Amino acid sequence: MQGKIVKGIAGFYYVNVNGTEYECKAKGVFRKDHKKPLVGDDCLLDILDEDKRLGNIREIMPRRSELIRPAVANVDQALVIFALTSPQPNLNLLDRFLIMMEQQKLPCIICFNKLDLDTDRLAEQYADIYAACGYEILVVSAKEGKGVDKLRKRLEGKITTVAGPSGVGKSSLINCLLGNSVMETGQLSKKIDRGKHTTRHSQLLQLEGSGYIFDTPGFSSLDLWNLEKEDLAGYYREFGPYERECRFGGCSHISEPICGIKTAVSNGNIARQRYENYCQLYMELKNQKRY
Ligand code: GDP
Ligand code: ZN
Repeated sequence: MQGKIVKGIAGFYYVNVNGTEYECKAKGVFRKDHKKPLVGDDCLLDILDEDKRLGNIREIMPRRSELIRPAVANVDQALVIFALTSPQPNLNLLDRFLIMMEQQKLPCIICFNKLDLDTDRLAEQYADIYAACGYEILVVSAKEGKGVDKLRKRLEGKITTVAGPSGVGKSSLINCLLGNSVMETGQLSKKIDRGKHTTRHSQLLQLEGSGYIFDTPGFSSLDLWNLEKEDLAGYYREFGPYERECRFGGCSHISEPICGIKTAVSNGNIARQRYENYCQLYMELKNQKRY
């Protein structure tokens, strides 16, 4: 039988086989394949007890991808969620997420939630900034259900990892996405509790039809690891066309005179917020301790 590992807790793996979850050990797998099972892995399993839903993972199928932080296999894309307001989005943190996802070669969708609170029409402003950098932007309201269908379509058939600071509505949105699958399949409510006081584990949540959301606890802020300051500009895609106007090769776009990027910022061709985030991250990388 073939299934997908949706959760791993203390040596037990929970494997979804067509909607039924089996509690499994992975005896022999490490010895044979020299790899530790990961959430997201497709595997072959032997059923040990059908009534008690117990099994043993016999073999891990080849991985399409493997993320290190968080440790998960076969992720297709990342969904980075921020609120338009309340809390006010920290765009510097958003850039960190985007860089981290891009470092891991994950396509990234940016989702702005709380559209119902957007009296200042920030949605358009943010959409403009990030669309100009080539990102896909979705604007939703988990509260009113606006835009959720469109989001659901983008997640179909894929494993999507979710990131974003707390308070932006990640749990609300995930519950929205799961809500329909609960109604349509008539299963008992699987709604998740992301309560602050319960111990949570990284797990895959099955969406209606096909597709999974990878829900990671504590994945809300991050340092930039393994990044050289010289490589940072490469992650600001919209800088690309203007770099040839920099006078100096290897221009850091910080203090050099005659810099194509700085000119583009003052002409309004590159968003000032993005450039300011770039400068801040650059200085951080410059001062970062080396181990
Ligand atoms: P998380 O910490 O990112 O998981 O955020 P939660 O889902 O716990 O939501 C944080 C707060 O924002 C809660 O009080 C939610 O009711 C509220 N919230 C979530 N989505 C929306 C939305 O679309 N509009 C409004 N007005 N409030 C929302
Ligand atoms: Zn420059």
